[in-house]
Amino acid sequence: MHHCFFSLCCLWALVFRNVANKVPVAVEIAQAVVPVSPNAQPGINPAINIWGQNKDFEVRKEDSLPYRHRVLTLTSNITLIIVCLILLAACQRDQEQSAELFVFGTIIEIKLWGASPEEASHAFSELQQMFQGMHRDWHAWEPGRLTNINNAFAQGRPATADKDIVEMVRRSQQIEASTGGRFNPAIGELVRLWGFHTSDYPITGPPPSQLQISEILEQKPSSTDIHINGLELRSDNPVVQLDFGGIAKGYAVDLTIAHLRELGISNAIVNAGGDLRAIGSHGDRPWRVAIRKPGGGNIGSVQVNGDEAIFTSGNYERFRQDKTVRYPHILDPNTGWPAKDIASVTIITDEGLLADAAATALIVAGLEHWPKVARALDLDQVAVVDEAGTVYLTPEMEKRIQFSGDANRVIVGVNSSQ
Ligand code: AMP
Ligand code: MG
Repeated sequence: MHHCFFSLCCLWALVFRNVANKVPVAVEIAQAVVPVSPNAQPGINPAINIWGQNKDFEVRKEDSLPYRHRVLTLTSNITLIIVCLILLAACQRDQEQSAELFVFGTIIEIKLWGASPEEASHAFSELQQMFQGMHRDWHAWEPGRLTNINNAFAQGRPATADKDIVEMVRRSQQIEASTGGRFNPAIGELVRLWGFHTSDYPITGPPPSQLQISEILEQKPSSTDIHINGLELRSDNPVVQLDFGGIAKGYAVDLTIAHLRELGISNAIVNAGGDLRAIGSHGDRPWRVAIRKPGGGNIGSVQVNGDEAIFTSGNYERFRQDKTVRYPHILDPNTGWPAKDIASVTIITDEGLLADAAATALIVAGLEHWPKVARALDLDQVAVVDEAGTVYLTPEMEKRIQFSGDANRVIVGVNSSQ
């Protein structure tokens, strides 16, 4: 920080000195670069090219300085300017602190703006610990707190959760209700049956049989089967198995932002492979992020307005491949089969948890029903890409995106008035 102050002072002093001498810095450089005759006399000089203009001008007092002196002055000014610019560039770098941390097998990139290196390293080490706790407590198949809870549900026993799991259950119950059951984190048993409890994609081989799928569906797993009593959870339905794969990243990003704020950091971006939340700005410009496109690349980019979450769910990254048929990892809880016809959904809202859950729910809703589900969740910034690459956008989303390609675009209103 000290060198920022120093370099700004130097630049200011330089400008002040030149202004005081009534010689603009730029003009001074130009004059000295032009071969001025060492014998120049005060008076009218021949035409000298300054900034591309042929211009006669009156030789000022400085022009009568000895040639060597003028070159020395110029050299010292240029050196000072270069030093100042280097120091200012270093300041810029100092303003941004970043780290890459791991959680749920995903790299989370965190960038802070305006925090000191000490504040940043303190924040990053606390967040790394938080992420380790989330991984341990929220994992759907590695033994830990959530698998203990699921075992207790299967045996009809109560289980002790923690406040974050209780919060995810509570919010999931609301979102399951408003999406007509399309988002349903109680279908862990179905996700396991499909073989999606793995980090090694793609998985291969035939899908489960309809009989196996129906056996689970007949028992109607729902997050609303779970009763919350303080930190204690109990399920009426033994087939309920929680899988927070569709919501955990969003909630993790929210908790990260909340913790950064508690530490007094107000400019940050937390990015889990394109799913992100940002607060504040990147200095004097807003944070700018890309919106992912199915199959790689970007639809375009968006300037983040203050505090926003941007989440994309796709059917193209994690799937089961059986010969020529691909079965994506997002399941329709109503049929037990993978959701079809939408390749990706991007949501912008002010909360990671809602954006994440909603992106999953809208994929399940499909091309016909997604506007209705978006309306039920009170979301107005949505982009949907179908298998053919057509981009369907709400008017509010269309205004936000600076498009990078020439994909076919269709505007779809989700409000009843549109
Ligand atoms: P996302 O990548 O955020 O769309 O979440 C997908 C993950 O959520 C899957 O890997 C499953 O763990 C889980 N999941 C799959 N289908 C659903 C669903 N219909 N509702 C809630 N979670 C689901
Ligand atoms: Mg999701």
